[in-house]
Amino acid sequence: MTADPDTLLLAEALIARRSLTPDDGGCSRLIAERLARTGFAIEWLDCEGVTNLWATRAGAAPGPLLIFAGHTDVVPPGPREHWASDPFAPSRRDGLLYGRGAADMKSGLAAMVCAAERLLAAGPLPGMLAFLVTSDEEGMARHGTRHVAEVLRHRGVRPDYAVVGEASSNARLGDRIVVGRRGSLGCNLRVFGRQGHVAYPQRADNPIHRLLPALAELAATQWDAGNASFPPTSFQVSNFHSGTGANNVIPGEADAVFNFRYCTESTAAGLKARVHAVLDRHLPRYQADWWHTGEPFLTRAGRLIEAARAAIGEIAAVQPELFTGGGTSDARFLAPLGAEVVEIGPINGSIHKIDEHVRIADLEPLSRIYERIARSLLGA
Ligand SMILES: [Zn+2]
Repeated sequence: MTADPDTLLLAEALIARRSLTPDDGGCSRLIAERLARTGFAIEWLDCEGVTNLWATRAGAAPGPLLIFAGHTDVVPPGPREHWASDPFAPSRRDGLLYGRGAADMKSGLAAMVCAAERLLAAGPLPGMLAFLVTSDEEGMARHGTRHVAEVLRHRGVRPDYAVVGEASSNARLGDRIVVGRRGSLGCNLRVFGRQGHVAYPQRADNPIHRLLPALAELAATQWDAGNASFPPTSFQVSNFHSGTGANNVIPGEADAVFNFRYCTESTAAGLKARVHAVLDRHLPRYQADWWHTGEPFLTRAGRLIEAARAAIGEIAAVQPELFTGGGTSDARFLAPLGAEVVEIGPINGSIHKIDEHVRIADLEPLSRIYERIARSLLGA
């Protein structure tokens, strides 16, 4: 199969637009121009300096709503001299396209735009196709997809399906699709004791002695047993600090930071309650500051996974593994709208690295996969 000049050229044009998170660098405007020419209604849902594009192509008849979703922002390239070529000047070498964002995820966006152009060339589909493109995924991810999802919720928009063009593939295009992600819940814990001389422990209250058994109990707890799609919820202590530096002083405070990566068998509220039950038993005085950066989601077997499997089998000739590992992505904000969500994109081996790249020969098939999925879901 030959490289699709459209997808390749658009990917290069996007890479050439320097879009360090949360800066969009003009990428969304370029995408919007292309979509407007294809008949999409363009709406800007910018928020706090973040560029958010919501583009919709109404259906020829009532039908499902499919969202193609992605982000234009990229992570910093790191030292320029470590790159073989300028990270913001796309470079083709030995069948690979190099540049920051090549895999994460400007090629995915370019492939989606070109898929929509081919799909809609002959007029609208029965269902509705939409694009949700943000510039705040790699950073705080507060004013991007999360914000647009809130707007959609208020409007009563209920997407049926969403495909996020994140780099999901492992060794070959399409060999892996992401159908779920674990949730992330963390806590900064401070335990208060009373400082004193180690020779007079009765006049002090050692917070380390109180915190250690509490952490030991938390670390030994089985939070759930996982399920067919997810490993069991994991608890890890990432930081532990205490002590004044002196060897004869009982410190007044002890700090720990811990994090849950939790599956769909647990909830953030349930985990917090169980942690507090343990802490309350061990610690007379403490302060727990929680942060919750993502709900878990899982797309179960259904029309979207079926359509994705069929498209990948036909175009890339592989059977995709359904994967739920890895970090978080914007899919976590789309799933709560009620949509079946998957992530399908190029090979992810170089994302966030020096000399990030994609295989040029994968671009056209990737675009065809998106096109085929949309065609089967929207009934064209
Ligand atoms: Zn990404």
